[in-house]
Amino acid sequence: MTPELTRLRRFARLALPQADAFLVSHLPNIRYLTGFTGGTAVLVVTSQGAELFVPPLYREQARLEVAAARVRTERGDPLVVASSWLRRRRLRRLGFEDQRLAAGQVETLRRALGPAVKLAGMSSPAEELRAVKDASEIARIRAAVDLGARVFEQVLPLVRLGVRELDLAAEIEYRMKQGGARAPAFETIVASGPRSALPHGRASLKRLAKNEFVIFDLGAILCGYHSDMTRTVYLGVPSAREKKTYRAVRDALERARATARAGVPAGRVDAAARQVLTRRGYGRYFVHSTGHGLGLEIHEEPRLARGVVTRLEAGNVITLEPGAYLPGQGGVRIEDVAVVHRHGVETLTPLSTELLCL
Ligand code: ZN
Ligand code: ZN
Repeated sequence: MTPELTRLRRFARLALPQADAFLVSHLPNIRYLTGFTGGTAVLVVTSQGAELFVPPLYREQARLEVAAARVRTERGDPLVVASSWLRRRRLRRLGFEDQRLAAGQVETLRRALGPAVKLAGMSSPAEELRAVKDASEIARIRAAVDLGARVFEQVLPLVRLGVRELDLAAEIEYRMKQGGARAPAFETIVASGPRSALPHGRASLKRLAKNEFVIFDLGAILCGYHSDMTRTVYLGVPSAREKKTYRAVRDALERARATARAGVPAGRVDAAARQVLTRRGYGRYFVHSTGHGLGLEIHEEPRLARGVVTRLEAGNVITLEPGAYLPGQGGVRIEDVAVVHRHGVETLTPLSTELLCL
C-alpha cells in the first residue's frame, strides 16, 4: 500500500464519523493525502474513496503523481466542479477545513448544495496526521536540515566586515538551489547589529560592521519538506554583556531540548525556555514562542507556545528557537530542529550552538 493510501484511510477514519463527506482544500493537505503537487485542486473524501478535482491543465501531472484518488479534470473552478459532484451524492453533512476556505468559497458550497446539507467547518484531520511524521518524512526533513547547515558553513567565510546582509542572503539561497532545493523555506534572514534585535529582520542593504551580532535564519525546501535553522555569530570581540545574552539564549535552548519528549504538553517546553530567560533578566525580550512543527509547511502543528496543552507525540518534528532581542542594541536567536521520541528528542541540526566569533 502506498503511503498516500494509508494516510487517506486514516484520514477517513478521523473525518467521516463527523460528516458523510469531507472536502479538503488546503494544498499541503492534498499533497500529503494524494501526492499531488500542483497549484489548484480540491479533494473530496467519502466512504467510497477519494476524488481529486483538478483543472484540465493538471491532467498529466495528476496522472503521474496520484494513485490513491480518482482524478477528475473537468473545466472550471475545482471547488464548483466538486460542489456539483457532491450535490448528486445526497449528503446530509459535509465537512470542510475551517480557516482554509474564504467566506465566498463557503458561500459557493452553500449555494451549490442547498439548505438540506449542513456545512461543518472543522480543524483538518490531515493536519493532525501530518504532525506525526513517518520515517520517510523524517529522512526528507533531515536531508533539508543537512542542506541548510552545509550552506551555512559554506557561507561563513564570506561573513566579513563591509559585506551587505543581502549579499549573504543571496549567496545562501543560491547555494541552497545548487544543493537541490526547490526554493528557500522562507525569505532568508540576515540581520546584523541593531537589526538583529528585529526577530524577523529581513536581509537589508546594511553592511556588517565591527563588534556586532549577526543572526542567520534560513531553511530549504527539499523533496517538499522544509528545514529551519538559526545561528547567531559575532563579528569581532563580544563584551561580557553580549556573552551573557548569548549564554542565556543557549541555556534556554538546552533547557527546552531537555524538557521536550513524548507526553509533555507543548506549552511546558515553551515555559522551560522562558523560565531560563526570565531568571537571567531577558524574559521581556523573548517576544515569540519557543518553536513549531515543520514538514510540508514551515509552520505546522504542534506549536510550542505559552499555554498550549497539546501533548508532544513521538514522531513530531519541531524547532526549538529561543531568542532575546534588546531594542537598539542587538539580538540573539539559536534554532535547532529535533525529532520527538518517547524519552527525549533527537536533534537533527548538525551544528554546534557555541558562539562563533569571526
Ligand atoms: Zn527559523
Ligand atoms: Zn522557526
